[in-house]
Amino acid sequence: MRVVMKFGGRAVADGAKIKTVAQLIKQFKEEGERTSKSRAEIVIVTSALSGVTDSLLETANRVAQEGDMYHVKDFVKQLQEKHERAAADAISNGAEVETVRVELTERITEVEKALSGICLLGEVTPRSLDYISSFGERLSAPILAGTLRSIGMEAAHLTGGEAGIITNDDFGNAQLTWDAERLIRERIMPLLETTIPVVTGFIGETRKGIITTLGRGGSDYSATIIGAAIDADEIWLWKETEGVMSADPKIVKNARMLPYISYIEAMELSYFGATVLHPRAILPVMRKKIPIRVKNVYHPGDPGTLIGEEPEKTKKAAKAITLIENASIVNVSGTGARSIADVAARIFSVLAAKNVDVIMISQGSSELTISLVIKGTQLERAIEAIQNINSGGAVIRDFASNSDVCAMGVVGAGMAGTPGVAGKVFSALGKAGISVIMISQGSSEFNISFVVKKKEAYRAAQAIHDVFEMGSG
Ligand code: ASP
Ligand code: MG
Repeated sequence: MRVVMKFGGRAVADGAKIKTVAQLIKQFKEEGERTSKSRAEIVIVTSALSGVTDSLLETANRVAQEGDMYHVKDFVKQLQEKHERAAADAISNGAEVETVRVELTERITEVEKALSGICLLGEVTPRSLDYISSFGERLSAPILAGTLRSIGMEAAHLTGGEAGIITNDDFGNAQLTWDAERLIRERIMPLLETTIPVVTGFIGETRKGIITTLGRGGSDYSATIIGAAIDADEIWLWKETEGVMSADPKIVKNARMLPYISYIEAMELSYFGATVLHPRAILPVMRKKIPIRVKNVYHPGDPGTLIGEEPEKTKKAAKAITLIENASIVNVSGTGARSIADVAARIFSVLAAKNVDVIMISQGSSELTISLVIKGTQLERAIEAIQNINSGGAVIRDFASNSDVCAMGVVGAGMAGTPGVAGKVFSALGKAGISVIMISQGSSEFNISFVVKKKEAYRAAQAIHDVFEMGSG
C-alpha cells in the first residue's frame, strides 16, 4: 500500500500534537505491514504549525510599512522559541533534538535576514512574500521528521522543490511545470525503499531555485500532486475536523459529516467557500482516479469522508450548502454602443489582469447588464479596473456594487438532470421570506448558486439544509 498523508496546521500545532501525529504514522505503517504482509510506503506532507503562515505574512507586511527593526527581532525570537519548544516536546531523544535545533537555527537566521531586508527596503513583493511564507513549512518539516526518527522510523525532510514540485514564477499561486510529475517520481520513488519522506506542503520552486507557493491552504494540493506523481493507492488528508460536512456546523445546527462525495462535488464545494480542501487539490488525482480520504486526527479509526470517482447513487439530489460570506456583487450596464459580448470581453480581461476571481456571473437576456460576484477583499481592485474600461471609448454606461450580500452554493451530483431541484431551492427560500438577489447555475448542474442579503444568509442555509434533509443519510 502506498499512501500520501497530509497533516494540516492544527494537527501539528505544537510538540504534543506532532508527537501524536508521529505515533499515528508509525502505527499505520506497522499495522499496514502486518495485515498486508507487504511494505507500507508512506509520504508525509506537512503544513506549518498552526498560525505561523499568517504571522509570517503579517509581519512581513507590517515591517515593510513601519520599518521597525525591533519588531523583526521580537518576532524572530518568538518564532524560534515556538519551534524549539515544539521540537523539545515532540522529540524524546536528546541527540535528535539537537540535530533538529541546528537545522531550525539555520532557517531562523534566514528568516531574520529576509525580514530585515524587507524592513530596510520598506517594500514587499509577491516573490518575497512567497519566500517569507515558506518558512512555516520549512520549520515544521524538520521537527516532524526528527520526531519520527526518535521513535525508530527512518525519515528525512525535503522542501517542495527538493521533492520535484517545480513551478512557474506565478508567486502566490504558482502552477506546476509540464515535467513536474516526472521529477517528483524521480526524487520520491528511490527514497520510499528505506525512508519516510516528510515534504513541506504549500511550497514549490522555480527551475532556477526560487521559492514559490501554491496558494493559501496549498498543502492539500502538494499532497495530491505527489500522490498522482507516484501513483499512490490513496491520499489521506488529516485534519482536526470530522471530514467534509453538509454545511458549516457553526451555521447550520444539524450539519453532518458526508461519508462519501465525488471529485466533482468536492471541487464545487471548495470553489464555493467550503474550506475543507484547496480548490485545485482534486485535479491531479482525477485522471488517475486516486481516492482521497479526509480524516480526523483525534479519531483515526473513523473512516472520515471518502472522495472518489463515482457519482454516488443516492436519492438525495443536493448534499451540501456552502456560503461565501465576504462577497460583493458588481452590476455593469453597457451603453448599447457595443455588443454585450464585447462588453463582457473587456470586463473579464481587465479583471483577469488585476487578478480578481469571479465567483458567479449572470447576464439577463435583455443584454443590458452583467452581474458578477467577487470576493469582498477584491472589490476595490475590481472597481478600479472597471472604471478604466471607458478610457478607450464609451463601453459602460453605469456600474454599481453591493457588499451587503452573501453568495451561496447548493451542491450535489444528483442534481444533474433531476427536475424540480431549483424549484425546491427557491420555494424553500420563498417560504422563509428570503428574497434572492441573483441566481446562476452552471450547465454541469452540480451547483446552483445564488445571492441573498447578508443578514438572511444563515437562515437561508438552514432552510435549504432542511428542505433537502441534508442532515440525514
Ligand atoms: N501553511 C499554509 C497556509 O496556512 C499552507 C497550508 O496550511 O496548507 O496557507
Ligand atoms: Mg491549512
